[in-house]
Parts: sequence; C-alpha cells; structure tokens
Amino acid sequence: MNPKVLISEEEIRSRVSELGAMISRDFAGRELTVVGVLNGSFMFMADLVRAIDLPLRCDFLGLSSYGSATESSGVVALTKDLSGPIEGRDILVVEDIVDTGLTLAYLQENLSTRHPRSVNVAALLSKPDRRKVEVSVDYLGFTIEDRFVVGYGLDFDGFFRNLPYIGLME
Ligand code: 5GP
Repeated sequence: MNPKVLISEEEIRSRVSELGAMISRDFAGRELTVVGVLNGSFMFMADLVRAIDLPLRCDFLGLSSYGSATESSGVVALTKDLSGPIEGRDILVVEDIVDTGLTLAYLQENLSTRHPRSVNVAALLSKPDRRKVEVSVDYLGFTIEDRFVVGYGLDFDGFFRNLPYIGLME
C-alpha cells in the first residue's frame, strides 16, 4: 500500500512555481549556481530549476548522515564533492528537508570556506520542532509537523523516492 498523501502533486507544483518566481525576482540580472544535495533533492531540484528564469548552472553535492533509518545523527560525510570551484558565485543550495538542521549547518560551513559571493538555501520541507541548530532557509516550500515523510525524492530505506507526492510513513 502506498503512503498516505500529506502534500499532493498539485500543491507541490504550485508552491515550486511560486518559489521559482521569487528566486527569479530576487536574483534578476545575476547568474546562479544551483547546488543540489543528493540524494533526496533530485526531484525538487529538477522542478525548481525549470521554474527559475535566470542563467544558471547546476551542480551536485553528495552528503550522507549516519544514524538510524528515520533519525540523523548529525555526523555528516561528504560522499560527492562539487565538480568545480564556486569562488565569487551566487549559490543556491537545494535541500529536500531540514530536520535537526545539522546537515545544513555543516554544508553552510563547508561552502563558506570556498568563498562564494553568496549562499542562499531553498528547502522543500522543514520540521522546525526538531531543530537542534539554528539555520536559515531563504526559500521554503512547506512547514510540516514532526512526522517521517517519503516521496518526491525522499526515501525510506532507499524506497519511495519515485512517488510524485509527499507521503506519510505510518
Ligand atoms: P538534518 O541534518 O536536518 O537532521 O537532516 C536532514 C536530512 O535527514 C534530510 O536531508 C533527509 O535526508 C533526512 N530526513 C530528515 N527528515 C526526514 C523525513 O521525514 N523523511 C526522510 N525521508 N528523510 C528525512
């Protein structure tokens, strides 16, 4: 049985196009380097970049955080690095979900050592009740309660990434 729908395909589509319009407006006249955080952000990234009307490059970072199936430990490992330098560039980090914030905090620290011109963050989902460190998300899709979600790139034990909606694991 498929997970219950929490956020439908239509809701995602309309929110992603709003975020794309905001980003296009905020960065008008500039070039963006959009950095997707693998694996969870691949679907959001694919839709978001198509909603952004700016000259942009895409790159990817691989991160894995150790922990149980549904809980990250905050110990983050870089499993794939960017394919080139980002010095002087405007970076838009694309994350699937901000939970404790530990992954994003690590990433912001790591990217800042490479001297980009700016780093902004787009995240599809946020669970603010779970935050352990303060992180700022500039473009947020949806705030959700402390529930484990799958779909639209997010997995449980590797599965469910292909669901076109955000679903609840019961
Ligand atoms: P954080 O470091 O903010 O605690 O965790 C971020 C990462 O944990 C996300 O990028 C995601 O991979 C994973 N994560 C956190 N909450 C969920 C969830 O509800 N569902 C899934 N599938 N992954 C989650």
